[in-house]
Amino acid sequence: MTRVIFLGPPGAGKGTQAKTLADNWNIAHISTGDILRQALKEQTPLGVKAQGYMDKGELVPDQLVQEMVQERLSQPDTQSGWILDGFPRTVNQAVFLEELLQKLNQHGEKVVNLEVPDEILIARLLQRGRKDDTEEVIRRRLEVYRSETAPLIDFYSSRQTLLSVNGDQSPEEVTSELHKLIA
Ligand code: AMP
Repeated sequence: MTRVIFLGPPGAGKGTQAKTLADNWNIAHISTGDILRQALKEQTPLGVKAQGYMDKGELVPDQLVQEMVQERLSQPDTQSGWILDGFPRTVNQAVFLEELLQKLNQHGEKVVNLEVPDEILIARLLQRGRKDDTEEVIRRRLEVYRSETAPLIDFYSSRQTLLSVNGDQSPEEVTSELHKLIA
């Protein structure tokens, strides 16, 4: 059973790698950013609530994303495995996830941290040209990553093995390393 949590700053390549591996392994790719962008596009109540935070590079409140993830992980296709991309992003979310996985009997996940130097992240994000990829918003997203999400590295290192991969390589090289690490 393959269950993987991807950590790493914005621009580290989580989305690209999560999508490739989920396709290769035929398991669910759960990207909270993608779910939120879709909700925003459809202007669902969730999308309307999330929009202001996303536009500014702030995190959407824990409660909203937690409900989203709980619902997603309760769907039948997750039974054969999943990759979480962009969740958890706060210690609160990580504690919530731990309890949720316990409850759903879906424990045994691997946690991977994609490491990329800041200057490379900024260059990549500026190139990507997503709506929330303006320089000001990028800077804010990196700050939020450092204060809210980076503490998860310690959180997971103290609980289980945290696998680290150098994300400053070609996407193919990163994929190949991930394949070796997560057999
Ligand atoms: P991403 O595509 O993962 O970069 O996410 C895009 C935006 O969605 C982030 O900047 C946040 O505003 C929001 N978002 C995605 N995942 C989360 C999460 N786990 N917690 C809070 N906000 C999130």
